[in-house]
Amino acid sequence: MKILSDLTDPVRYLKGVGPKKAALLKKLGIEEVRDLLQHYPRRYEDRKNLKPISQVVIGETQTIQGEILATSLIRKKGLSIFKAGVGDESGVIYAIWYNQPYLKKALPKGKEVVLSGKVEMGYGQLQIRVSEYEVMAGNEEDQVHTKRIVPIYPLTEDLYPRFLRSLMKRTVDQYVSSLTDLLPSEIRRKNNLPGFSESMQAIHFPSELSEIAEARRRLVFEEFFYLQLALALKKKDLETREKGIKYKVSGNLEKKLRALLPFKLTKSQEEVIKEIKEDMQRPRPMNRLLQGDVGSGKTVVALISLLVAVENGYQVALMAPTEILAEQHYLTLHNFLSQLGVEAELLIGNLRGKERKEALRKIREGKCRVIIGTHAIIQERVNFARLGLAIIDEQHLFGVVQRKVLREKGLNADVLVMTATPIPRTLALTLYGELNISVISELPPGRAPLETRWVGEGERQRIYLFLHKRIKEGRQAYLVYPLIEESEKLELKAAREMFEKFRKKIFPDLRLGLIHGRMKGEEKEEVMKKFKAGKLDILVATTVIGVGIDVPNASVMLIEHAERFGLSQLHQLRGRVGRGPHKSHCILMAEAKSEEARERMKVMAASNDGFFIAEKDLELRGPGEFFGTRQHGMPELKIANILKDAPLLELARKEAFALILQDPGLEKEKYRSLKRHLVRNYKERMDLSMIS
Ligand code: ADP
Ligand code: MG
Repeated sequence: MKILSDLTDPVRYLKGVGPKKAALLKKLGIEEVRDLLQHYPRRYEDRKNLKPISQVVIGETQTIQGEILATSLIRKKGLSIFKAGVGDESGVIYAIWYNQPYLKKALPKGKEVVLSGKVEMGYGQLQIRVSEYEVMAGNEEDQVHTKRIVPIYPLTEDLYPRFLRSLMKRTVDQYVSSLTDLLPSEIRRKNNLPGFSESMQAIHFPSELSEIAEARRRLVFEEFFYLQLALALKKKDLETREKGIKYKVSGNLEKKLRALLPFKLTKSQEEVIKEIKEDMQRPRPMNRLLQGDVGSGKTVVALISLLVAVENGYQVALMAPTEILAEQHYLTLHNFLSQLGVEAELLIGNLRGKERKEALRKIREGKCRVIIGTHAIIQERVNFARLGLAIIDEQHLFGVVQRKVLREKGLNADVLVMTATPIPRTLALTLYGELNISVISELPPGRAPLETRWVGEGERQRIYLFLHKRIKEGRQAYLVYPLIEESEKLELKAAREMFEKFRKKIFPDLRLGLIHGRMKGEEKEEVMKKFKAGKLDILVATTVIGVGIDVPNASVMLIEHAERFGLSQLHQLRGRVGRGPHKSHCILMAEAKSEEARERMKVMAASNDGFFIAEKDLELRGPGEFFGTRQHGMPELKIANILKDAPLLELARKEAFALILQDPGLEKEKYRSLKRHLVRNYKERMDLSMIS
């Protein structure tokens, strides 16, 4: 019997694969047999029932099989057209390839071919513009490639469909039947999932199209299940650590704070505060993700949470991704904390020399309770006397990593990660699966509505008039000009030119300021201060205003080249307006050329709901692109789709967590191979120290 480790056999030594082919396979990420088997078909073609040529449908993509009867190569004006007459018993079709003159040799008269492509009428002839083709060998091996349901695999240049399909067939035949099914049989039975080898066989070489769905269901479940098991182990480990802090909640400081707040908390804010407090009262470290749309009021939630830690004699570190944001937090929090007699310190780059030393000393000696800064404060050599709570703001890239840093410093502080970028639940379950999640699901009342419109160049003059009118009414506006990183210098020039044009020609009577990423910290601050104080009417900005800027009087935002931004980015930007009592407008100036870009503009105009936007973003861009999930150390999913397979993800999560509850260390003999699989694939990547 084959043992599991066979899956790690290098493909390089499989029959028919030499160094050259191995290099090509590697381009597809295939190095081991396991990778090969997980290189799933992107679609299937039913070549059992290929249409006779006489029955192809014009205007549609069709697949036919026939013999090459005659060929010709036409060259004109640098263009080459290879044309082949292909016939079967029923008729003839002309196959067309552009700019592939070498086909003249590769596809001589007499060859049997399978062709896919769009069928058209051209010059009175039935033609097929070939998008995929395959040459039949006219031998027994053809049974893999025709007269059956044929898998169509993703390929790379110089790797041909026949080669990969044959290799896959041999590999499936050789390996699959003897492999152990790692999925616990009770879970498989309970959820009606087919076995592993059966599913592998069916996903690659189904005998009926109807077999594919079940096989896929099993493989998707399995992929999610292993990942969720790893997350469950990790979560369990974090939760059973005993070194955490068990806070007492007296609520004295909180009561005083509430008396100072100019508003009443929303129901949703109250709920998440309750969840956080419950976590903090438990004897193990809190590990919670707080999600809330831009402007939903996360800061005050952080403030109340930190008071619990302070009241218990601990220190709190509040970390923001940029210095500007850290400063803003400091200003907001300091205002309240000073009234409560709690000392706070802002620890950022421009704090130098004596001042810095003094601040560090206060932190070391525990005199300073609340430390606000960038993420550097836990990475640098800042020594805390008694750090009890770390709050990480506006982060989608950290969390897991950050937790590890804290742990390595020997601090079992509670961690609260706050994110303004709503992460769809399915993605959160995979990325932050070991965290608990709280969501602020409503905005504070009394916000004036925000309307988003997508316009084209034709409306530019009207938009300028509109902007001018709002400003004359006393409002302020943002004018956002995106910089593309690759050509930042050029773009910056464009932004500056635009600024000058606006200042001198379009709005000569208004006060304009420019802010961009290349400016020094103090310069930026200067401009921001002026804008905030109402001394500027229009702030022309690159995306540096993306996060945390709070100027309630600014009620109009015009975003140039909006098509260059992703959905979540646009939503973040838009969050800068609609913060005051005035009806607000976000105008997207975009010549959206691609279908996808148009879709983005439509989604923005249609909804102001961050979660909906994030779901759409994930859908349009795919999980890989969505905030670079790869950076999370999350393994790439080979078959599962986080969006489409969300119900299976939930199911797999439920089963995985139930299993860990039952057998926390996967000690049972029957889970031995499963455990080995987890150790091999997730231990390092996900920092699973608890299994070996
Ligand atoms: P975010 O979740 O984007 O960090 P903030 O915490 O900055 O949001 O809150 C946005 C604004 O809403 C702030 O001006 C804050 O004072 C205000 N705010 C927060 N909670 C409430 C509430 N319950 N009622 C009214 N205003 C609130
Ligand atoms: Mg915030």
